[in-house]
Amino acid sequence: MPGLKEQRAVIIGGSMSGLLSALQLRRAGWAVDIYERLGTELSGRGAGIVAQHELIERLRGLGLATDGLGVEVLKRKIFDREGRLTEETECPQVLTAWERVYRLLRDAFPPEHYYRGRGLAKVTQTPDKVTAHFSDGETIDADLLVGADGIRSTVRQQFLPDVVPLYAGYSAWRALLAESDIPHDVQDTLIEGMCFGLPPGEQFLGYPVAGPDNDLRPGHRRYNVIWYRPADEKTKLQWLLTDDSGKTHEISIPPPLISRAARAEIHEAAERSLAPQFRAIVKLIDEPILQPIYDLESPHMAFGRVAIIGDAAFVARPHVGAGVSKASDDAAALVEALQAEPDVAKALKRFEVARLPENGRIIQWARHLGAYLQASQTQEEKTRAGLHSTDSAVIVETATLDFLYA
Ligand SMILES: Cc1cc2nc3c(=O)[nH]c(=O)nc-3n(C[C@H](O)[C@H](O)[C@H](O)COP(=O)(O)OP(=O)(O)OC[C@H]3O[C@@H](n4cnc5c(N)ncnc54)[C@H](O)[C@@H]3O)c2cc1C
Repeated sequence: MPGLKEQRAVIIGGSMSGLLSALQLRRAGWAVDIYERLGTELSGRGAGIVAQHELIERLRGLGLATDGLGVEVLKRKIFDREGRLTEETECPQVLTAWERVYRLLRDAFPPEHYYRGRGLAKVTQTPDKVTAHFSDGETIDADLLVGADGIRSTVRQQFLPDVVPLYAGYSAWRALLAESDIPHDVQDTLIEGMCFGLPPGEQFLGYPVAGPDNDLRPGHRRYNVIWYRPADEKTKLQWLLTDDSGKTHEISIPPPLISRAARAEIHEAAERSLAPQFRAIVKLIDEPILQPIYDLESPHMAFGRVAIIGDAAFVARPHVGAGVSKASDDAAALVEALQAEPDVAKALKRFEVARLPENGRIIQWARHLGAYLQASQTQEEKTRAGLHSTDSAVIVETATLDFLYA
């Protein structure tokens, strides 16, 4: 609008939340720059995700083409230790790769406003402006700063130093395999659905996703594997995070450094507890990814002219499959509030009021679904575990938002 100063937003973090909020802010007329700490391109590092209807609608709302977003599967199946199909249900879903959604968003955002290798060190603000201070000493002023900087958010740590990720008591082994490497008889039973194995206190999950360059042709896709196993924080998790040189890594361990003993252990465990189809899949895993599972819940998302969104504010265990759609709902609520209220600090308060209860519900539901996988449980968690660990509960409750909005 002539005469009105263009509002400027600085986004910290160039992954899902950063790109989703940046694209929506641009559509609302803001000048937006994204600052991403990593110097290398993020793509190529993700695994599979469920593209919930809500996310697909948001991507369409941004004018992005969602045709061929991922592999459409119709069924979910559970196989017992002997490889028998014990439960089957219809559940049409689109299963995509993190990288595919990231690329779609990244290509829609002007590259000249996306800065890599720029890590935020701290934020300062006055009633009129917010200033981002970067590790290289540079400062940038803006009307709004969005902390979209993930579970270890620098922005959150500054405003909410006591809020830290809490280890859930179990970890996931993850891998992406080439469909063409999977023996044909195994492909026949597994590849066209979301398939579960449920050894006591554990959950194995596999489903097809797009192949390299978003190739959706049968035979060219990839198979996404997630295997949740309990791991006590002080003992088993420390062992898993210790590499062959004896060094124990904090929080996560780079896949090439996972010890030979830890890798051997998952192969042995597969032989003991999984269906023959899943054992054949685990045999193909050379370099698994270890993902310790965390919960994170923030009591605030707005601090003057600063907001935190996505994993910076709330991290849900993966069972709801809500990570990216939660990020996109945060971004949409932020922009809606800024459009409704011209005063940035007041708009951010409005955004916080809208999103805190919703995010709290997602975190809580994910905790309930994952309670049975924990190395130890309180009495209340044991009760939850009983409700959500049966075959019929797992097959319908996993990776869907339906129960949250029922
Ligand atoms: C490379 C990558 C691959 C992923 N793959 C999957 C997957 O396969 N399946 C899945 O469910 N989820 C995956 N995730 C997580 C998923 O993106 C999030 O759970 C969810 O989408 C919310 O995203 P987010 O943008 O809030 O947080 P994140 O995706 O964690 O992104 C936060 C970003 O902020 C950057 N950052 C951190 N600190 C600073 C700082 N001080 N200054 C500037 N930048 C900073 C980080 O480098 C990161 O790029 C992946 C994340 C990344 C980064």
